[in-house]
Parts: sequence; C-alpha cells; structure tokens
Amino acid sequence: MKNTKTENFERELPSGYKQALYINAKEAKFGIIFNLIALVVLAVVMVLAVLALRLSDRLMPGIMDMEPTEMLVAYFVFIAVMIAYVVLHELVHGIAYKTLTGEKLTFGMSWSCAFCGVPHIFTYRKTALIAVVSPFAVFTVLFIPILILLYFVNPLYYLMMAVIFGLHLGGCSGDLYVLYLLTAKFKDKKTLMRDTGPEQYFYVTEE
Ligand SMILES: [Zn+2]
Repeated sequence: MKNTKTENFERELPSGYKQALYINAKEAKFGIIFNLIALVVLAVVMVLAVLALRLSDRLMPGIMDMEPTEMLVAYFVFIAVMIAYVVLHELVHGIAYKTLTGEKLTFGMSWSCAFCGVPHIFTYRKTALIAVVSPFAVFTVLFIPILILLYFVNPLYYLMMAVIFGLHLGGCSGDLYVLYLLTAKFKDKKTLMRDTGPEQYFYVTEE
C-alpha cells in the first residue's frame, strides 16, 4: 500500500523504464555554460537596476554622501546575505524534496554550483518539478518587493539587492533548464528523475 509520500517516488527503477537523458553540472560543458548564462543575466539585471536608479536623480547623491564605515557595513551585510541566500536556496530544494518524499537528502558544493538532491530514489515528474522550481519561485516573489522598497529607501542597499537578485535569477539557470526539460521534453507524468544534486537522470517508459 502506498501512502501519499511514496506516490511521489519509486525506490527502484520500475521495469519498462529506460534512461532518456543525463545531465551533470560538474561537467565542464554544463558548468561553464550555466555560469556564463548566470553572468549575462547578472549583467542585464545590473544595467536595468542602474538605469532605474538614474531615472530618479535624487537617489544618486545618497551613495556619494555615505561614510566609509557605512560602506564597509554594507559590504559585510552583502556578503552575509549572499551566503545566506546560497544556503537558503538549497534548503528550499531540500524542504520541497523532504516534504514530498520524506527521504534522505544530500547537500554539497562543486566548482560550478551548490546543490541539493535526493540521490537514492526516483521521483515522479510532479515531485521533481516542484522541488526544482521552488527556490526560483520563493526568492523571486520575496526579492522583488524588497528591491522596490530599497529603491525608495537606500540606493546602496538597493544596488546590493539588485546584485543578489541578479545572482539569484542567473544562479537559477540550471534549475530553470531542468524545469524546461520537465515541461517541454518530458511531459509524461510517469517520467522519473533521479537527482543526486549536481546530476539529474531522466527515465521514461519504453514504448
Ligand atoms: Zn537550485
């Protein structure tokens, strides 16, 4: 008998399935491409953020007037928020996987990305979709109002938040690629994905 959680995954690859695709963020090809995409996205976000700031000329002098100590504090806040973001991003993947499967998670970091996976099971498409897109959805919804608020309150913190927002959007490129695969390529709800963190294996039923 299956409970609600075990409906979301399989412990063994069921018979009649074959591997359809394998991707690995630790491979140079993927790691470099996704980090390049992330840099381009960050650059675009920063250009837009600075343009938005320049629209309102009363904000620019705010940064010029800041004391060196204020700048230093801002720098440390930035580093702390950055680290917290990376940890929380992976935690959100983890919470989604844990809620949906109850299985053992893996967390880690490679040269190309931080990661969270649930390596010992095969999750159904819907579970994989939710876990993969959760951090993108949560932090995009959270960061946009903060960004708008800071725009009016403090131009330096606004620019810092724009960097973090840009890194978030760009850093989600790998997740969004998996989202694309699950929505455009693997539309069958019977599709299984095994997520070790940096690697994703996709399995489909044999015709
Ligand atoms: Zn992610």
